[in-house]
Amino acid sequence: MPGFDGGYMADELDTTSEITENHTNMSIDAIRTRAQAIPAGNPGECAHCGEFTPRLVNGACARCRDRLKLG
Ligand SMILES: [Zn+2]
Repeated sequence: MPGFDGGYMADELDTTSEITENHTNMSIDAIRTRAQAIPAGNPGECAHCGEFTPRLVNGACARCRDRLKLG
């Protein structure tokens, strides 16, 4: 197929750079959103597992918030 290889390579390069760009933008946005969404928290003992955590949020450590879907 004449010209197939050249066309295919160009398409692949374009697609790859687009994906990389989108992924980078999405990651930065996700990190910004996540950083704003994380509550500051306070040091204390987790109400669920009793473990001391430097970042107690709503009485729960990070592991329990994750485990119990407390956010
Ligand atoms: Zn806990």
